[in-house]
Amino acid sequence: MSYNSSRQIYADTLASIRKDGLYKDERIICSHQGGEVKVRFPAEAPEKNMINLCANNYLGLSSHSDILKAAHEGLDKRGYGMSSVRFICGTQDIHRELENKMSNFLGMEDTCLFASCFDANGALFEAILSAEDAIFSDRLVHASLIDGMRLCKAQRHIFEHQDLNDLEQKLKAAKCRMKLIITDGVFSMDGDMARLDEICRLAEKYDAMVAVDDSHATGFIGKTGRGTHEHFGVMNKVDIITTTFGKALGGATGGCVSARKEIVDLIKQRGRPYLFSNALMPAVVYASLKVIDVLSSSTARRDKLEELTKFWRNGLTDAGFDLKQGNTPIVPIMFYEAKLAQEFSRDLYNEGVFAVGFFYPVVPKGEARIRTQISAGLEKAQLERALEAFVKVGKKHRVLGVKKEEITARYS
Ligand SMILES: *Cc1c(COP(=O)(O)O)cnc(C)c1O
Repeated sequence: MSYNSSRQIYADTLASIRKDGLYKDERIICSHQGGEVKVRFPAEAPEKNMINLCANNYLGLSSHSDILKAAHEGLDKRGYGMSSVRFICGTQDIHRELENKMSNFLGMEDTCLFASCFDANGALFEAILSAEDAIFSDRLVHASLIDGMRLCKAQRHIFEHQDLNDLEQKLKAAKCRMKLIITDGVFSMDGDMARLDEICRLAEKYDAMVAVDDSHATGFIGKTGRGTHEHFGVMNKVDIITTTFGKALGGATGGCVSARKEIVDLIKQRGRPYLFSNALMPAVVYASLKVIDVLSSSTARRDKLEELTKFWRNGLTDAGFDLKQGNTPIVPIMFYEAKLAQEFSRDLYNEGVFAVGFFYPVVPKGEARIRTQISAGLEKAQLERALEAFVKVGKKHRVLGVKKEEITARYS
């Protein structure tokens, strides 16, 4: 079928996405990333100052002056690009330095850098598991883990979200050589933490390995920000951590697998996104080294984040919003209906608050929400203003103190 004939099919698909209220329009940011940003929406509208509640900029490091300075230094000292994958001629001294520093920070034996955590998760499973092995994964793990698992031949057992009885049944029943349990450390859509203490206990009991994707935790979860394994006191029990530099750790780009030594070795031999994709740019490596230094020298940023998060959760709860429970800086406010979440987000925008709606296919149908994320780059006064806006818009849409059933009934 030529494009002229196919075009109608694509146009129809797009029209049906719009009709269901599921079309995602991008807001255009015309400033640095930060607690307050300049936004244009729609794209041709004038710029507007907005309080930003939807970046993964948990520690406020995306535009931090020390980090920018380090990136500039990287450019000056090691150039712009590597024009090579790591194993041909793309490994500089600083790449190894960052790998060592990450291993140290996370308490792991060795680390392998990737262009993204999406790539790290794409490399992991195929490199270390084969058809005789089995993976046990939480139903709600990140899309990149799901894709990574699809690329490997191991059996795949999916346990219900955070249901450790279900995990135990599946571990008990499986017939295989190696077992690997995989979970997100913090789940990005619900903001809940995996029970890593319990998962590690089951892993010991059933002779399994544990892998955690800590993209929404590295840098700020745990007393010194090492991640969910620190939070649950199992730093020596987790075998594999994958994480990103694209969120709390400066927010540019890059990811890694930090793991037992042989696992990292194998990934460097076999991981396809490692072997066939370019090395991380030196400026990003320099800036990431600086980020780890900043976080290792003080917990001030993660402590501030924890405090602001408490303020935000309590404020919304007291106002009568329906929150997903948890204790991470991911604070989802439930609206259930995609259209309501979209309209609410649009009204917040008019009040100077930037918080986008999430709906199918990013979350299940009927589970639409606005996901707010707190950042150490925000100040309490900004959160107070944001709260006022939420309450104003909440009254308009009659959602304060209102239960799920009542909201869904309005749309049926
Ligand atoms: C964001 C995220 C990723 C992808 O990270 P990138 O470095 O942006 O590719 C992977 N896993 C989880 C759990 C994430 O939240």
